[in-house]
Formats: sequence, structure tokens, C-alpha cells
Amino acid sequence: MDRITLKAMAKINLGLDVIRRREDGYHEVRMIMQTVDLCDELSFQRLKEDELRLATNLDFLPTDQNNLIIRAAKLLKEEFGIREGLDVNLTKRIPVAAGMAGGSTDAAAVFVAMNELFRLGLSDDDLRKRAVAIGADVPYCITGGTALSEGIGEILTPLPAAPACTVIVAKPPIHVSTAFVYRNLDLGGLERHPDIDGMLECIRRQDLCGVAERLENVLESVTVKKYPIIARIKEFLTSRGALGALMSGSGPTVFALYDDGEKAAWVHEELRKSGLVKESCLTSFADRTCMKTGGKMGVRERNLRV
Ligand code: ATP
Repeated sequence: MDRITLKAMAKINLGLDVIRRREDGYHEVRMIMQTVDLCDELSFQRLKEDELRLATNLDFLPTDQNNLIIRAAKLLKEEFGIREGLDVNLTKRIPVAAGMAGGSTDAAAVFVAMNELFRLGLSDDDLRKRAVAIGADVPYCITGGTALSEGIGEILTPLPAAPACTVIVAKPPIHVSTAFVYRNLDLGGLERHPDIDGMLECIRRQDLCGVAERLENVLESVTVKKYPIIARIKEFLTSRGALGALMSGSGPTVFALYDDGEKAAWVHEELRKSGLVKESCLTSFADRTCMKTGGKMGVRERNLRV
């Protein structure tokens, strides 16, 4: 086999707590990660020539060392002395710089694809150990699903699948730098922390309302303060029947959970007309990040850009 095509799914954080800042500048976190059915598509082709090529549908994305795809491919090439090359074609659908781990999930797809194309024989655990060198969310993205993420993101505990629901994902027309958000987080000044343990219990009990009541993200204290439009989107969604709404990761994407798919579809239409968001979609939870594909994308994914 010399080619493979993968869907690489996005994530949201049902809960995001920051425990402390380490000496080395990394933050220790406690996060509940959830894959959503919204994905990039990556096709990989083995090359005889010893080079890495990347093409993408978005012209503002880097295609050199600054792209996590190239960094992940280099890491495996160097460690395993691979003298052949790789041609990657990325169709980007996950909003960029949005708090949905778009770059991380692409990097995870590279690990999964190269393991197969170059017959490296690595287990998911082996891949995760290497993946953390590319980014804190990459180990999670190797398998995805519902998981508790601790340490800097490399200590992962798989959880039972979160209760099914319809999810609205909405990104306002702004880009947020993750580094900026963490730099400006005032840990000592936080008045409360998310009830991560309570959320874990609700997931185990399949209690969707309990999950929705506990949605909380300490990074909102930075991003929402700087970009009030995030609070307006949350308000828009919660005042229209969402069980709960929250900013994902460092933002600015907001997601909302609904137990009524028809109502969610109606609210999504209203949201698109509101002018509050640049990109949005109606989606659901998914149970893994990287999936082989025949190439056809679902309706939800095609709907993303509005
Ligand atoms: P996270 O949720 O892990 O913080 P994010 O969704 O906020 O990630 P990304 O979409 O990964 O952020 O992009 C952040 C920056 O990383 C972008 O500005 C982009 O220039 C750079 N980048 C590098 N590789 C990629 C990639 N494969 N896809 C998207 N962005 C990438």
C-alpha cells in the first residue's frame, strides 16, 4: 500500500481546568475531551524521493515547518531513518485557530498514516508517546472519543462515550492565539474551578443534563473578556433551548448541546442569519479521531463554511 486517506476529527472540551503553571512554562490541565463529527481530510502518498510535500485548500495555512503536519512527518522520518518521502493533501474544514485542535488532529493523522504506510509497527501508545513532542493535544487526537486529559495533555484516561446529543459549533469572525490566552490567564484570581469529577460521574451515568449543567472552561476568563462576542453567542444559544453552551479550548469557538435535533437545526439556521458567526455547523459527538474514508464527506461537513 502506498496511499491512504484519513478523516481527522475536531475536538471540543466539555470541561477545561488549569491546575498550575509549571517551571518550564507548560500548564497542567484537567480537561474532558470530546471528539465531534467535523473533520479535515488528509490523503497521504508515499514518494520515492526523500522529500515532504504539503498542499492545502486554504492559502493562508503554512505548508512548511510551521505546519504541524510537516513537523510530525519529520519526527517519524528522523527517528526511523525513513529515506523515502511523503506527499500530503489537506482539505481543511475544521475552523483554524478556533480551539478545536485542528492542527493537532492533522498531526495525529500523520502519525497514524505513516505508521501504516511505512509499516513502523507502533501501537497507539507508542504513537501517543511521540505525539506529545508536537503538541499537548496531539496524543489525545491519536484515538479521540471521550477522555480525561491530565498532565500537560499526555496523561489520558478513556471514558465511556458521552451521552448522545446534537451539537451546534459556532465560530465568530476572530482568530485567537492559544499562547496569548495561557499567558494572560490569572490562575490565582480564578473564583471557581470546573466540577470535572462531577462531570465524569454524569458521563458514567449517561446524564446529559448533568453534563450540560457542568460545562465550564477557565480560559473563558481571558478570551471572553477580550472578545465579548463569545458571550453574545453563548447567550443566543442558551436563550434558544440549548441545555448548555461553552467556549471550546482557548476559543473563540462556542458549542451548544441540544437534546432535540429539530430545535437545534432551527436555532442553527437562526444563528447563521444573525451575523454573529463566520463558520458554524450542526454536528454530534464521535467516538474516534482518525478514520479511513472512501473520500465522501457528510452533509454536516459540507455545511460548515457559511
Ligand atoms: P488548539 O485547540 O489545539 O489550541 P486551535 O484549533 O486553536 O488548536 P489550530 O487550528 O491548530 O488552532 O491553528 C493554530 C495555528 O497553527 C494556526 O494559526 C496555523 O497557522 C498553525 N498551524 C500549523 N499547522 C496547522 C494545521 N495543520 N492546521 C491548522 N493550523 C495549523
